[in-house]
Amino acid sequence: MPDFCPDCDNLLRKRKIKDKLFLVCKCGFQKELYNNPDEIQKSIHKKKKALEKNLLILSEEDKISVHLKIKKDCPKCGNSEAETWQVQIRSSDEPSTHFFKCTKCKYTWRE
Ligand SMILES: [Zn+2]
Ligand SMILES: [Zn+2]
Repeated sequence: MPDFCPDCDNLLRKRKIKDKLFLVCKCGFQKELYNNPDEIQKSIHKKKKALEKNLLILSEEDKISVHLKIKKDCPKCGNSEAETWQVQIRSSDEPSTHFFKCTKCKYTWRE
């Protein structure tokens, strides 16, 4: 089904501009072409893939939380050094939770 320019009724031509298909008229009118469902599906799929990739990276970053050694008294053995790291609870407005792990007896607690 050919498309005609709404401004001057000339036949619109397909033209590729920056990887997108446009219907263009010699009068200067142009509109983006969306009549190729395969292409649309492909681009949606691409976006989804990119999103999944990002999510994957995010979850990996979560796992690799930074462990720092700080001066902290262990409530169990009285050792004065502990590792600390933060865990952000997903999909909640709560602040991240601090975890501590005694470097001596490996006792783990949170605040
Ligand atoms: Zn036109
Ligand atoms: Zn301890």
